[in-house]
Amino acid sequence: MSQPNKDANIGEKYPKLIDSFGRKITYLRLSVTDRCNLRCFYCMPQADFNWMPYENILRFEEIIQLVRVLACQGVRKIRLTGGEPLVRKDVVRLMGDISNLEGVEELCLTTNGVALAELAEGLFAIGLRHINISLDTLRRERFQEITGRDLFDRVWSGIQRCIELGFSPIKINFVMIKGKNDDEIADFALLAARYPIEVRFIEFMPIGRGSNWGRDYFFSSDQAIELIEKRAGKLVVEQRRPFSGPAELYSLKGGKGTVGFISPLSHRFCSECNRLRITADGRLRLCLFSDREILLRQMLRDGIGQKDLAQFLAKAVMKKPARYLAKDYDVPHCDRTMSSIGG
Ligand code: SAM
Ligand code: SF4
Repeated sequence: MSQPNKDANIGEKYPKLIDSFGRKITYLRLSVTDRCNLRCFYCMPQADFNWMPYENILRFEEIIQLVRVLACQGVRKIRLTGGEPLVRKDVVRLMGDISNLEGVEELCLTTNGVALAELAEGLFAIGLRHINISLDTLRRERFQEITGRDLFDRVWSGIQRCIELGFSPIKINFVMIKGKNDDEIADFALLAARYPIEVRFIEFMPIGRGSNWGRDYFFSSDQAIELIEKRAGKLVVEQRRPFSGPAELYSLKGGKGTVGFISPLSHRFCSECNRLRITADGRLRLCLFSDREILLRQMLRDGIGQKDLAQFLAKAVMKKPARYLAKDYDVPHCDRTMSSIGG
């Protein structure tokens, strides 16, 4: 990974990314594919959907050009996501190239863990340390019910491999779904007491066609805290760490790891939002809950220069909304599936 501000001129070359509410943009969630080897029922339709055509997906050189410019404009943290990022051919090489770009201080990956047992070593070798692995159950049959595939054992061995290799932090993303896995919330908190990991409980969000969201499935972070404390003891508030993002962190007394709560529906965190998203087909999204997208792919293919691209991005960021509009648990309709946005 590059040294922080190794190049003294970095950031002086191009306009910084600051939106019209003064929020500095330092974090990019980059989706490298919409393809996935699972079919999580809360993320994508189970049938009747089309993958993006291959020719629409950003090529590695286009991704590098974009990230290079964004890093010159103040983006420091890059997270690769998808679809499932590890199904993209040669993604480990791409991650190595991104981590060598001037200004990139933190490289992260969000994965379903299916391919981790094979790829963890290569990822560690290119310098990746921050990894988020999604897992919503410890029960094999339930895993198949939620994800549509019987691959629990592979994900579990991938997690074990990451612990052995020394990835840190390792975060487990657990989407809370009432009636489907809320009875395992305390078990996952205890997992964080046993292993040096952070378990992040995420509120189920009504994103996209096919998310199957319904009020009856919603389980809030406050309900989860109450449930954990009943079974596993008092949660102790942890100091927020740099780059800890929107998660509120706690630990269990004597535990090795931490638990975090991400509560986009019950406690919105828009005022601290420092992120941009880029979809696999090169669309810039300024807010997870808004379908407004700014097309970047064609200008990259038309050979836009770095300076012009930087100016375009700085202007685009000014359109970032202050917050998403929501009333109770109702958030705006968003048509894109989560699998094509990247979470
Ligand atoms: N395939 C990778 C994975 O599952 O980790 C990366 C992409 S996935 C879209 C990124 C994150 O979004 C995952 O942690 C997933 O659990 C979460 N996610 C997907 N749909 C969601 C929903 N409707 N509400 C809350 N989180 C969701
Ligand atoms: Fe695939 Fe991740 Fe969506 Fe599950 S959450 S379907 S693993 S993209």
